[in-house]
Amino acid sequence: TSESISDLLDRLCEIVPDYPQPGISFKDLTPVFADASGLRRMVDALIAPFEGQFDIVAGLEARGFVLAAAAAYASGKGMLTIRKAGKLPREVYRDEYTLEYGTGCLEVHKDEIAPGTRVLILDDVLATGGTVSSSVRLLEQTGAKIAGVGVVLELDGLNGRDKLPGQNVVSLQVVH
Ligand code: AMP
Repeated sequence: TSESISDLLDRLCEIVPDYPQPGISFKDLTPVFADASGLRRMVDALIAPFEGQFDIVAGLEARGFVLAAAAAYASGKGMLTIRKAGKLPREVYRDEYTLEYGTGCLEVHKDEIAPGTRVLILDDVLATGGTVSSSVRLLEQTGAKIAGVGVVLELDGLNGRDKLPGQNVVSLQVVH
């Protein structure tokens, strides 16, 4: 195919105005997940910049799970599920972070990652960076090394990257 990744995302990503609240322009990637070559090309493009640099792929609940599971399978690695509070049944590390209203909390099982493991973090959209920076702090508690952060879309004007100093952050497309 000669279609660029940007053109593919422009064609398949649905922009939903005022969802889930007025003023938010929601980037819905589920049509890319549902498209056979779209899913494959998106996942391949997310992994390529980090080839040889990671030992495991971490996905952020819930849309990050789709990307991370496919990326882990495609690269012959395992996958870590980083979940919202209270979903994991055994001993966890946790990181609390501030949201626009209230706080969020991410957790990961303590025994699924050994110190020094190089982790690639994947999610669908980088907005304010609050979620990804929480996952970085969470994984740092485990003694893991952050190999990088891959997102499909990066929202410009929100400066999410500034919350991730020193990290190799790769987005497939910057959108408004
Ligand atoms: P943030 O912590 O602000 O970077 O927000 C990132 C998380 O919220 C990601 O897991 C995204 O899935 C979701 N998110 C934030 N803004 C949007 C948006 N405009 N469209 C789709 N998802 C979004």
